[in-house]
Amino acid sequence: MTKKVAVIGGGIVGCITSFFLIEKGYEVTLLDQNAVGQEASWAGAGILSPLLPWNYQDTVNNLCFGSADFYHQLSEILKKDTGIDPEWIESGMLIYDVNDNDYAISWCQKNHIEIQQVQVDRTSCLFLPLVAQIRNPRLLKALKTYLIKNNIVMMEHQKVSPIVDSNDFIHCLRTESGLNLEADYYVVASGAWSSYVLNEIDMPKIKPIRGQLIQYPSIKEKLPYIIYKDDFYLVQRQDGLILAGSTKEDVGFDKGITEEARHSLQQKAESLMPVLKNYNIENQWSGLRPGSEGNVPMIEKHHKYNNVYLNVGHYRYGLTMAPKAARIICDLITLNG
Ligand SMILES: Cc1cc2nc3c(=O)[nH]c(=O)nc-3n(C[C@H](O)[C@H](O)[C@H](O)COP(=O)(O)OP(=O)(O)OC[C@H]3O[C@@H](n4cnc5c(N)ncnc54)[C@H](O)[C@@H]3O)c2cc1C
Repeated sequence: MTKKVAVIGGGIVGCITSFFLIEKGYEVTLLDQNAVGQEASWAGAGILSPLLPWNYQDTVNNLCFGSADFYHQLSEILKKDTGIDPEWIESGMLIYDVNDNDYAISWCQKNHIEIQQVQVDRTSCLFLPLVAQIRNPRLLKALKTYLIKNNIVMMEHQKVSPIVDSNDFIHCLRTESGLNLEADYYVVASGAWSSYVLNEIDMPKIKPIRGQLIQYPSIKEKLPYIIYKDDFYLVQRQDGLILAGSTKEDVGFDKGITEEARHSLQQKAESLMPVLKNYNIENQWSGLRPGSEGNVPMIEKHHKYNNVYLNVGHYRYGLTMAPKAARIICDLITLNG
Protein backbone atom coordinates (compact mmCIF):
# COMPACT_ATOMS: atom_id res chain seq x y z
CA MET A 1 0.00 0.00 0.00
CA THR A 2 1.24 3.50 -0.79
CA LYS A 3 2.63 5.20 2.32
CA LYS A 4 1.54 8.70 3.19
CA VAL A 5 3.85 11.53 4.20
CA ALA A 6 2.75 14.91 5.56
CA VAL A 7 5.31 17.68 5.07
CA ILE A 8 4.90 20.71 7.35
CA GLY A 9 6.19 23.82 5.60
CA GLY A 10 6.25 24.74 1.93
CA GLY A 11 9.54 26.62 1.68
CA ILE A 12 12.36 25.33 -0.50
CA VAL A 13 13.15 22.62 2.05
CA GLY A 14 9.58 21.27 2.20
CA CYS A 15 9.10 21.57 -1.57
CA ILE A 16 12.30 19.75 -2.54
CA THR A 17 11.63 17.08 0.10
CA SER A 18 8.16 16.60 -1.42
CA PHE A 19 9.71 16.50 -4.90
CA PHE A 20 11.95 13.53 -3.95
CA LEU A 21 9.21 11.82 -1.95
CA ILE A 22 6.83 11.69 -4.93
CA GLU A 23 9.70 10.43 -7.07
CA LYS A 24 9.98 7.53 -4.61
CA GLY A 25 6.26 6.82 -4.84
CA TYR A 26 4.99 8.29 -1.56
CA GLU A 27 1.63 10.03 -1.34
CA VAL A 28 2.48 13.53 -0.12
CA THR A 29 0.44 16.23 1.57
CA LEU A 30 2.23 19.58 1.91
CA LEU A 31 0.85 21.98 4.50
CA ASP A 32 1.69 25.63 4.95
CA GLN A 33 0.38 28.24 7.35
CA ASN A 34 0.73 30.80 4.58
CA ALA A 35 0.90 30.43 0.80
CA VAL A 36 3.62 28.01 -0.33
CA GLY A 37 7.01 29.59 -1.09
CA GLN A 38 6.44 33.03 0.37
CA GLU A 39 8.77 33.13 3.38
CA ALA A 40 12.58 32.93 3.68
CA SER A 41 12.88 30.89 0.49
CA TRP A 42 11.17 33.67 -1.44
CA ALA A 43 13.14 36.45 0.29
CA GLY A 44 16.66 35.12 -0.28
CA ALA A 45 19.20 36.11 -2.91
CA GLY A 46 19.43 32.73 -4.62
CA ILE A 47 23.20 32.31 -4.43
CA LEU A 48 23.92 28.58 -4.64
CA SER A 49 27.05 28.45 -2.51
CA PRO A 50 28.29 29.39 0.93
CA LEU A 51 29.66 32.94 0.70
CA LEU A 52 33.18 32.11 1.92
CA PRO A 53 33.13 28.31 1.93
CA TRP A 54 36.53 28.00 3.65
CA ASN A 55 35.06 29.63 6.77
CA TYR A 56 32.50 26.87 7.37
CA GLN A 57 32.56 23.42 8.90
CA ASP A 58 32.72 20.42 6.56
CA THR A 59 29.11 19.55 7.48
CA VAL A 60 27.91 22.81 5.94
CA ASN A 61 30.01 22.48 2.79
CA ASN A 62 29.12 18.81 2.31
CA LEU A 63 25.44 19.74 2.29
CA CYS A 64 26.10 22.51 -0.23
CA PHE A 65 28.34 20.69 -2.72
CA GLY A 66 26.53 19.61 -5.87
CA SER A 67 23.62 21.95 -5.36
CA ALA A 68 24.35 24.15 -8.41
CA ASP A 69 24.30 21.11 -10.72
CA PHE A 70 21.10 19.80 -9.17
CA TYR A 71 19.32 23.14 -9.69
CA HIS A 72 20.63 23.35 -13.26
CA GLN A 73 18.92 20.07 -14.09
CA LEU A 74 15.83 20.91 -12.05
CA SER A 75 15.47 24.24 -13.86
CA GLU A 76 15.37 22.44 -17.20
CA ILE A 77 12.67 20.07 -15.92
CA LEU A 78 10.64 22.92 -14.46
CA LYS A 79 10.93 25.07 -17.60
CA LYS A 80 9.69 22.21 -19.76
CA ASP A 81 6.97 21.10 -17.39
CA THR A 82 5.61 24.41 -16.09
CA GLY A 83 6.76 27.04 -18.59
CA ILE A 84 8.34 29.00 -15.70
CA ASP A 85 12.08 29.67 -16.00
CA PRO A 86 13.86 29.77 -12.62
CA GLU A 87 16.78 31.53 -14.34
CA TRP A 88 19.67 29.35 -13.22
CA ILE A 89 22.91 31.14 -14.19
CA GLU A 90 26.51 30.17 -13.56
CA SER A 91 27.59 33.73 -12.95
CA GLY A 92 30.62 33.13 -10.74
CA MET A 93 31.39 35.13 -7.60
CA LEU A 94 34.08 37.80 -7.22
CA ILE A 95 35.30 38.21 -3.65
CA TYR A 96 37.06 41.31 -2.36
CA ASP A 97 39.21 41.59 0.76
CA VAL A 98 39.72 37.97 1.71
CA ASN A 99 41.63 37.86 5.00
CA ASP A 100 43.91 35.02 4.05
CA ASN A 101 44.16 34.47 0.28
CA ASP A 102 46.64 31.62 0.55
CA TYR A 103 44.46 29.67 2.94
CA ALA A 104 41.35 30.23 0.78
CA ILE A 105 43.18 29.08 -2.35
CA SER A 106 44.66 25.98 -0.75
CA TRP A 107 41.30 25.11 0.84
CA CYS A 108 39.61 25.33 -2.57
CA GLN A 109 42.31 23.26 -4.24
CA LYS A 110 42.02 20.60 -1.56
CA ASN A 111 38.25 20.52 -2.01
CA HIS A 112 38.38 20.57 -5.84
CA ILE A 113 36.69 23.97 -6.11
CA GLU A 114 37.91 26.08 -9.00
CA ILE A 115 39.36 29.38 -7.77
CA GLN A 116 41.30 32.14 -9.51
CA GLN A 117 43.32 35.06 -8.21
CA VAL A 118 42.41 38.14 -10.28
CA GLN A 119 43.09 41.87 -10.33
CA VAL A 120 40.08 44.20 -10.50
CA ASP A 121 40.84 47.94 -10.57
CA ARG A 122 44.29 47.16 -9.20
CA THR A 123 42.78 45.27 -6.25
CA SER A 124 43.62 41.63 -5.76
CA CYS A 125 40.44 39.51 -5.56
CA LEU A 126 39.44 35.87 -5.62
CA PHE A 127 37.04 34.53 -8.24
CA LEU A 128 34.95 31.38 -7.92
CA PRO A 129 33.82 30.85 -11.55
CA LEU A 130 31.44 27.97 -10.89
CA VAL A 131 29.20 29.68 -8.33
CA ALA A 132 25.66 29.79 -9.69
CA GLN A 133 22.53 31.71 -8.79
CA ILE A 134 18.83 31.05 -9.23
CA ARG A 135 15.86 33.41 -9.17
CA ASN A 136 14.32 31.90 -6.07
CA PRO A 137 10.79 33.42 -6.24
CA ARG A 138 10.43 31.91 -9.72
CA LEU A 139 11.95 28.63 -8.61
CA LEU A 140 9.37 28.36 -5.83
CA LYS A 141 6.53 29.29 -8.16
CA ALA A 142 7.64 26.67 -10.69
CA LEU A 143 8.10 24.01 -8.00
CA LYS A 144 4.64 24.69 -6.61
CA THR A 145 3.11 24.28 -10.08
CA TYR A 146 5.12 21.12 -10.70
CA LEU A 147 4.14 19.54 -7.37
CA ILE A 148 0.44 20.24 -7.92
CA LYS A 149 0.66 18.78 -11.43
CA ASN A 150 2.27 15.70 -9.95
CA ASN A 151 -0.60 15.09 -7.57
CA ILE A 152 0.68 16.42 -4.31
CA VAL A 153 -2.11 17.52 -2.02
CA MET A 154 -1.26 21.12 -1.16
CA MET A 155 -3.01 22.62 1.84
CA GLU A 156 -2.24 26.32 2.18
CA HIS A 157 -3.26 28.59 5.06
CA GLN A 158 -3.30 25.63 7.45
CA LYS A 159 -1.24 26.33 10.57
CA VAL A 160 -0.11 23.06 12.11
CA SER A 161 -0.30 23.01 15.93
CA PRO A 162 2.72 21.85 17.95
CA ILE A 163 3.14 18.10 17.59
CA VAL A 164 2.55 16.08 20.75
CA ASP A 165 1.64 12.50 21.54
CA SER A 166 1.97 10.38 24.65
CA ASN A 167 3.50 7.52 22.62
CA ASP A 168 6.67 7.35 20.57
CA PHE A 169 4.59 7.79 17.46
CA ILE A 170 2.56 10.68 16.06
CA HIS A 171 -0.90 9.54 14.94
CA CYS A 172 -2.15 12.73 13.38
CA LEU A 173 -1.45 16.41 12.86
CA ARG A 174 -3.87 19.03 14.05
CA THR A 175 -4.24 22.43 12.49
CA GLU A 176 -5.53 25.58 14.15
CA SER A 177 -8.59 25.49 11.91
CA GLY A 178 -9.56 22.09 13.36
CA LEU A 179 -8.32 19.82 10.57
CA ASN A 180 -6.90 16.41 11.58
CA LEU A 181 -4.49 14.82 9.15
CA GLU A 182 -3.22 11.26 9.42
CA ALA A 183 -0.08 10.04 7.70
CA ASP A 184 2.52 7.29 8.09
CA TYR A 185 5.37 9.78 8.33
CA TYR A 186 5.68 13.48 9.14
CA VAL A 187 8.45 15.82 8.02
CA VAL A 188 8.95 19.10 9.86
CA ALA A 189 10.30 21.66 7.35
CA SER A 190 8.86 24.75 8.98
CA GLY A 191 11.88 27.05 8.70
CA ALA A 192 12.19 29.73 11.39
CA TRP A 193 8.95 28.46 12.97
CA SER A 194 10.20 24.90 13.50
CA SER A 195 10.69 25.21 17.27
CA TYR A 196 6.99 26.02 17.57
CA VAL A 197 5.93 23.01 15.49
CA LEU A 198 8.33 20.78 17.43
CA ASN A 199 6.87 22.05 20.70
CA GLU A 200 10.28 23.33 21.82
CA ILE A 201 9.17 26.87 22.52
CA ASP A 202 10.95 27.06 25.88
CA MET A 203 14.23 25.74 24.50
CA PRO A 204 14.28 26.75 20.85
CA LYS A 205 17.12 25.20 18.86
CA ILE A 206 16.09 27.13 15.77
CA LYS A 207 15.53 30.86 15.98
CA PRO A 208 14.54 33.48 13.41
CA ILE A 209 17.32 35.71 12.09
CA ARG A 210 15.95 38.50 9.94
CA GLY A 211 17.61 39.36 6.65
CA GLN A 212 16.78 42.48 4.65
CA LEU A 213 17.53 43.08 0.98
CA ILE A 214 17.09 46.08 -1.29
CA GLN A 215 16.36 45.95 -5.02
CA TYR A 216 17.37 48.37 -7.77
CA PRO A 217 15.43 48.41 -11.04
CA SER A 218 16.63 46.73 -14.24
CA ILE A 219 19.75 48.63 -15.16
CA LYS A 220 21.40 48.64 -18.57
CA GLU A 221 24.89 48.15 -17.12
CA LYS A 222 25.92 44.51 -16.73
CA LEU A 223 27.22 43.00 -13.52
CA PRO A 224 28.84 39.89 -15.01
CA TYR A 225 29.22 38.06 -11.68
CA ILE A 226 28.05 38.13 -8.07
CA ILE A 227 30.22 40.52 -6.04
CA TYR A 228 30.94 39.85 -2.38
CA LYS A 229 32.71 42.12 0.12
CA ASP A 230 32.62 42.22 3.94
CA ASP A 231 29.48 40.14 4.39
CA PHE A 232 27.65 42.07 1.67
CA TYR A 233 26.77 41.02 -1.89
CA LEU A 234 25.37 42.32 -5.16
CA VAL A 235 23.50 40.00 -7.52
CA GLN A 236 22.06 40.80 -10.94
CA ARG A 237 19.10 38.91 -12.44
CA GLN A 238 18.78 38.18 -16.15
CA ASP A 239 16.50 41.18 -16.73
CA GLY A 240 19.04 43.53 -15.13
CA LEU A 241 17.50 43.88 -11.63
CA ILE A 242 20.08 44.28 -8.90
CA LEU A 243 19.71 42.84 -5.39
CA ALA A 244 21.89 44.09 -2.54
CA GLY A 245 22.00 42.31 0.77
CA SER A 246 21.75 41.39 3.41
CA THR A 247 21.36 42.14 7.10
CA LYS A 248 21.54 39.62 9.95
CA GLU A 249 19.27 40.70 12.80
CA ASP A 250 18.16 38.88 15.93
CA VAL A 251 14.75 40.54 16.35
CA GLY A 252 12.41 37.61 16.88
CA PHE A 253 9.56 37.11 14.44
CA ASP A 254 9.48 40.79 13.37
CA LYS A 255 9.44 40.87 9.56
CA GLY A 256 9.52 44.66 9.34
CA ILE A 257 11.96 46.59 7.17
CA THR A 258 14.02 49.50 8.47
CA GLU A 259 15.38 52.79 7.17
CA GLU A 260 18.71 51.97 8.83
CA ALA A 261 19.12 48.77 6.82
CA ARG A 262 18.08 50.52 3.61
CA HIS A 263 20.65 53.22 4.15
CA SER A 264 23.48 50.86 5.07
CA LEU A 265 22.78 48.47 2.16
CA GLN A 266 22.50 51.41 -0.24
CA GLN A 267 25.86 52.83 0.87
CA LYS A 268 27.61 49.49 0.42
CA ALA A 269 25.93 48.85 -2.94
CA GLU A 270 26.84 52.24 -4.35
CA SER A 271 30.41 52.05 -3.12
CA LEU A 272 30.89 48.66 -4.85
CA MET A 273 29.01 49.66 -8.02
CA PRO A 274 28.99 53.48 -8.26
CA VAL A 275 26.65 53.51 -11.30
CA LEU A 276 23.84 52.51 -8.91
CA LYS A 277 23.86 56.12 -7.64
CA ASN A 278 21.96 56.95 -10.85
CA TYR A 279 19.06 54.70 -9.89
CA ASN A 280 16.43 54.75 -7.14
CA ILE A 281 15.89 51.77 -4.88
CA GLU A 282 12.65 50.20 -6.06
CA ASN A 283 11.94 47.65 -3.36
CA GLN A 284 13.02 46.43 0.07
CA TRP A 285 11.96 43.32 1.94
CA SER A 286 12.91 40.94 4.68
CA GLY A 287 12.77 37.24 5.44
CA LEU A 288 13.29 35.15 8.56
CA ARG A 289 16.12 32.69 8.23
CA PRO A 290 15.90 29.51 10.32
CA GLY A 291 18.95 30.32 12.46
CA SER A 292 21.04 27.47 13.84
CA GLU A 293 24.40 27.17 15.58
CA GLY A 294 27.17 27.35 12.94
CA ASN A 295 24.64 27.09 10.08
CA VAL A 296 24.38 23.37 10.80
CA PRO A 297 20.83 22.14 10.20
CA MET A 298 19.06 19.24 11.90
CA ILE A 299 18.35 16.55 9.32
CA GLU A 300 17.34 13.53 11.33
CA LYS A 301 14.66 11.38 12.91
CA HIS A 302 12.96 12.97 15.91
CA HIS A 303 14.54 11.92 19.22
CA LYS A 304 11.16 10.77 20.59
CA TYR A 305 8.74 10.15 17.72
CA ASN A 306 9.77 7.33 15.40
CA ASN A 307 7.72 8.55 12.45
CA VAL A 308 8.71 12.24 12.60
CA TYR A 309 11.68 13.64 10.65
CA LEU A 310 13.34 17.03 11.03
CA ASN A 311 14.64 19.01 8.07
CA VAL A 312 15.20 22.34 9.79
CA GLY A 313 17.72 25.06 10.63
CA HIS A 314 19.47 25.64 7.29
CA TYR A 315 20.04 29.26 8.34
CA ARG A 316 21.92 31.21 5.61
CA TYR A 317 22.10 28.41 3.05
CA GLY A 318 18.72 26.71 2.87
CA LEU A 319 18.38 27.12 -0.88
CA THR A 320 21.81 25.66 -1.39
CA MET A 321 21.42 22.82 1.10
CA ALA A 322 17.84 21.80 0.27
CA PRO A 323 18.64 19.12 -2.37
CA LYS A 324 21.11 17.13 -0.22
CA ALA A 325 19.06 17.62 2.93
CA ALA A 326 15.92 16.38 1.19
CA ARG A 327 17.71 13.30 -0.15
CA ILE A 328 18.88 12.41 3.36
CA ILE A 329 15.33 12.68 4.74
CA CYS A 330 13.89 10.57 1.89
CA ASP A 331 16.52 7.90 2.48
CA LEU A 332 15.77 7.84 6.22
CA ILE A 333 12.05 7.45 5.55
CA THR A 334 12.64 4.71 2.98
CA LEU A 335 14.87 2.84 5.45
CA ASN A 336 12.07 3.01 8.01
CA GLY A 337 9.95 0.87 5.67
C1 LIG B 1 17.67 38.00 2.97
C2 LIG B 1 17.99 36.53 2.82
C3 LIG B 1 18.94 36.13 1.88
C4 LIG B 1 19.22 34.77 1.70
N1 LIG B 1 20.06 34.39 0.70
C5 LIG B 1 20.31 33.07 0.49
C6 LIG B 1 21.14 32.65 -0.59
O1 LIG B 1 21.60 33.47 -1.39
N2 LIG B 1 21.38 31.32 -0.72
C7 LIG B 1 20.87 30.37 0.13
O2 LIG B 1 21.15 29.20 -0.03
N3 LIG B 1 20.05 30.75 1.15
C8 LIG B 1 19.78 32.07 1.35
N4 LIG B 1 18.98 32.46 2.39
C9 LIG B 1 18.54 31.47 3.37
C10 LIG B 1 17.39 30.67 2.84
O3 LIG B 1 16.44 31.54 2.29
C11 LIG B 1 16.78 29.83 3.97
O4 LIG B 1 17.77 29.05 4.59
C12 LIG B 1 15.73 28.88 3.39
O5 LIG B 1 14.78 29.62 2.68
C13 LIG B 1 15.05 28.07 4.47
O6 LIG B 1 14.07 27.31 3.83
P1 LIG B 1 12.88 26.69 4.64
O7 LIG B 1 12.03 25.95 3.66
O8 LIG B 1 13.42 25.95 5.81
O9 LIG B 1 12.13 27.96 5.26
P2 LIG B 1 10.96 28.89 4.69
O10 LIG B 1 11.17 29.25 3.28
O11 LIG B 1 10.79 30.00 5.66
O12 LIG B 1 9.71 27.94 4.72
C14 LIG B 1 9.14 27.47 5.91
C15 LIG B 1 7.65 27.34 5.64
O13 LIG B 1 7.03 26.72 6.77
C16 LIG B 1 5.76 27.30 6.94
N5 LIG B 1 5.34 27.07 8.32
C17 LIG B 1 5.94 27.51 9.44
N6 LIG B 1 5.25 27.12 10.54
C18 LIG B 1 4.19 26.41 10.10
C19 LIG B 1 3.11 25.76 10.75
N7 LIG B 1 2.97 25.78 12.08
N8 LIG B 1 2.19 25.13 9.98
C20 LIG B 1 2.29 25.12 8.63
N9 LIG B 1 3.30 25.74 7.97
C21 LIG B 1 4.24 26.36 8.69
C22 LIG B 1 5.99 28.78 6.62
O14 LIG B 1 4.81 29.45 6.30
C23 LIG B 1 6.97 28.69 5.46
O15 LIG B 1 6.34 28.74 4.20
C24 LIG B 1 18.61 33.81 2.55
C25 LIG B 1 17.65 34.20 3.46
C26 LIG B 1 17.33 35.56 3.60
C27 LIG B 1 16.26 35.96 4.57
